[in-house]
Amino acid sequence: MQFKDVIGQSEVKQKLTGLVQSEKIPHALMLLGPEGNGGLPFALALAQYIQCENKGAEDSCGVCPSCVKNQKLVHPDVHFTFPVVPRKSGEPPISNDYITDWRTALAANPYMNVNEWLQNIGAENRQGNITVRECHEIIRSMNMKSYESGYKIQIVWRAEFLKEAGNTLLKVIEEPPADTIFILIVENLEQVLTTVISRTQLVKINAIEIEDVKNALLKRFDMDEGVARRIARITDGNFNAALIVADGQESENDKLLHRWLVACFNLKLKPSSSNTQSLLEWVDEVSKIGRENQKIFLKYALFFLRECTLLRLAGKSEKLEGEELKFAQGLSARLEAEQFEALSKVFNGMYYHVERNANPKILFLSNSFRIGSVFKNEEVALIGEE
Ligand SMILES: [Zn+2]
Repeated sequence: MQFKDVIGQSEVKQKLTGLVQSEKIPHALMLLGPEGNGGLPFALALAQYIQCENKGAEDSCGVCPSCVKNQKLVHPDVHFTFPVVPRKSGEPPISNDYITDWRTALAANPYMNVNEWLQNIGAENRQGNITVRECHEIIRSMNMKSYESGYKIQIVWRAEFLKEAGNTLLKVIEEPPADTIFILIVENLEQVLTTVISRTQLVKINAIEIEDVKNALLKRFDMDEGVARRIARITDGNFNAALIVADGQESENDKLLHRWLVACFNLKLKPSSSNTQSLLEWVDEVSKIGRENQKIFLKYALFFLRECTLLRLAGKSEKLEGEELKFAQGLSARLEAEQFEALSKVFNGMYYHVERNANPKILFLSNSFRIGSVFKNEEVALIGEE
């Protein structure tokens, strides 16, 4: 991967190429940024740049033998470590057991998140981890001579998954063999051992600019500029989420949310069997869209509530339009700021539990009652009429 294929983030690109150009590349680098913002693409582009035989000031050449191998993810001096799932019996797994799946997944989408990766290798409800055996594997390969003349590079995707096993690596990160570079990719710094953090140089990656996500979507999909901008806004600089929304272009999170709130209100107003049935049907539908889409739906709901609050305070929203705007205007005229806050709390809590594999039916159903309880009866009828 070349830097030109990494979306936006020109400052980070300059910083990384500058480190290489001035020969100040640290032996252990930690790339920190939230999901979907490009930690892994940056690591790939940096590794390729370091090893390129004909690099320019801003990017690798893309055509030298070293670049070709890096692009195919088969460079013998670039090693990958990533979370894998425990086996039922036998030795603990190492990343190399899954290297073919890894190459395929990265070729398809280097912005993927860890849940997607783990599902890809059949994790189901098992948690992924990076094993102590994998750490010994890293130490072994870092101590071998490089195959080609340049640097040996060890990329660790999601160093959070090292957990206590990270202790095994402290020495090799602190005093690595000559011409060795560690690139650790992290989303949640508080989940990484401080002893590991303190041995690396931190580079922060920010959310991708809305405009850059929009342009990247337009390059990849045949879609309207307005649609692309809207997806970019909702997904908040997370390109992986933007891809999922764009892929299912029919994504109708606004209607899904509208129907949900109405179902919750109606049931609270009148707990009849037909109102119960409507809510159960909705819950059933949302349970089937899959965890990644549920996460995006909840992100959308949070985005929508922020816009409603803005409408309430400033009287306008620049991000909503059409039916969605009408619905938001209706809600913002009838709900107090505290009620929006209470709803945000519910959605945030749900997001947390979706990420941790909660049963979707139970989660969405039980929270439907919490949503209902946020509303006062007199509002219910008004909103239900929309
Ligand atoms: Zn090259």
